[in-house]
Amino acid sequence: MALADKDRIFTNLYGYQPWNLPAAQARGDWDNTKALLERGQDAIIDEIKASGLRGRGGAGFPTGLKWSFMPKESKDGRPSFLVINADESEPGSCKDREIIRHDPHKLLEGALVAGFAMRARAAYIYIRGEYIREAETLFAARDEAYAAGLLGKNACGSGYDFDVFVHRGAGAYICGEETAMIESIEGKKGQPRLKPPFPAGAGLYGCPTTVNNVESIAVAPTIMRRGAAWFSSFGRENNKGTKLFQISGHVNKPCVVEEEMSIPFSELIEKHCGGIRGGKDNLLAVIPGGSSVPLVPADQIWDAPMDFDGLRAVGSGLGTAAVIVMDKSTDIVRAISRLSYFYKHESCGQCTPCREGTGWMWRVMERLRTGDAELEEIDMLFQVTKQVEGHTICALGDAAAWPIQGLIRHFRPEIERRIAANVREAAE
Ligand code: NAD
Ligand code: SF4
Repeated sequence: MALADKDRIFTNLYGYQPWNLPAAQARGDWDNTKALLERGQDAIIDEIKASGLRGRGGAGFPTGLKWSFMPKESKDGRPSFLVINADESEPGSCKDREIIRHDPHKLLEGALVAGFAMRARAAYIYIRGEYIREAETLFAARDEAYAAGLLGKNACGSGYDFDVFVHRGAGAYICGEETAMIESIEGKKGQPRLKPPFPAGAGLYGCPTTVNNVESIAVAPTIMRRGAAWFSSFGRENNKGTKLFQISGHVNKPCVVEEEMSIPFSELIEKHCGGIRGGKDNLLAVIPGGSSVPLVPADQIWDAPMDFDGLRAVGSGLGTAAVIVMDKSTDIVRAISRLSYFYKHESCGQCTPCREGTGWMWRVMERLRTGDAELEEIDMLFQVTKQVEGHTICALGDAAAWPIQGLIRHFRPEIERRIAANVREAAE
């Protein structure tokens, strides 16, 4: 069953109303936030745990559990921090942008609720450099919240002091990785750190830190108001709640939409996107969770539940729920080769398998695209992706390997056809 309007968290997702504070308050944001905080830190964390909310940035780590890793007592007087990841750079992803454009107060109120729950002194919202107007909106919304006494000293009259800083990125995809983001906020070159230690142990300025995605934070106040049982009534076991899906590519009406987790792919596309361009039979493949997850061929995706487990079962993942739809007009080898170029370009170069592997994989992908390769190179490329996967400091190495693995797994005959055609051409 699809999500009813009354159950949508993001009621201004399309900007039909103003984003500003009076309009946000009329929609229910910042409604007696003090009472939410008065429930106490542990009660908030327990409620978020009970809701089943899993991180919306792509990895799906349980949000309440992550908050519970933060220390209850300050060690050596060190403060704790919340970092909100608004460096939305995953190709296909554009949901956090819509939240910040049209519902920034949900994010700011969520920052206070989450920050209070984890006993953080302040939140840093790290917004990608290309989101210029969104950053302006966020700065303005933050100023409104400060002026109204909702943030800053004695936030919402709660007796709790909580600051929110907005930090603009400078266009590097890798700064979306949580430890690279922490380095970047500290003023250093954005390069991932080895984990462990996880940020909850040693994060921003060496202090306990939790890094959460924009959507994960923005839904927290509504979960607190409507209750964990309400949120967890959507979706299925282990895959709870509502979720923003971003559907792009060859559908009749690309969109960002809030839906129930686990909605079947077919329903998502038919109900919200006006179907596949040229009809269902024209579907070739789908990248269901942003460019870091493998593609799924048409026959396997159609009935798949759009959630963590449903997409894992078809060899892919929910990721950021950025659904990239490709119809039969797509040059699928070229599409994946373009992604390979992206990862080569964005590699920070810190570890050898990624630095060398991404360039190597892209160059082979380009030769497969033109057919100017040997048949044996398909298996060799697959083997190289296996040597990159799991052998790097951060997930970018995996993200570069998986789309290629998906291509070879599902579209090997197409690659072979190109090589054969090129050999024929050369002989003629
Ligand atoms: P991860 O699985 O390493 O970590 C997820 C989160 O859980 C992190 O905050 C991490 O600190 C925490 N965590 C994991 N294990 C922990 C432990 N044992 N103790 C304490 N904390 C622990 O994944 P990641 O590298 O943070 O993220 C990868 C995902 O990011 C990919 O799946 C991809 O979908 C997504 N991604 C999103 C974007 C975007 O624009 N939103 C861009 C690139 C990638
Ligand atoms: Fe940098 Fe790539 Fe290593 Fe990540 S995997 S740390 S992006 S070189």
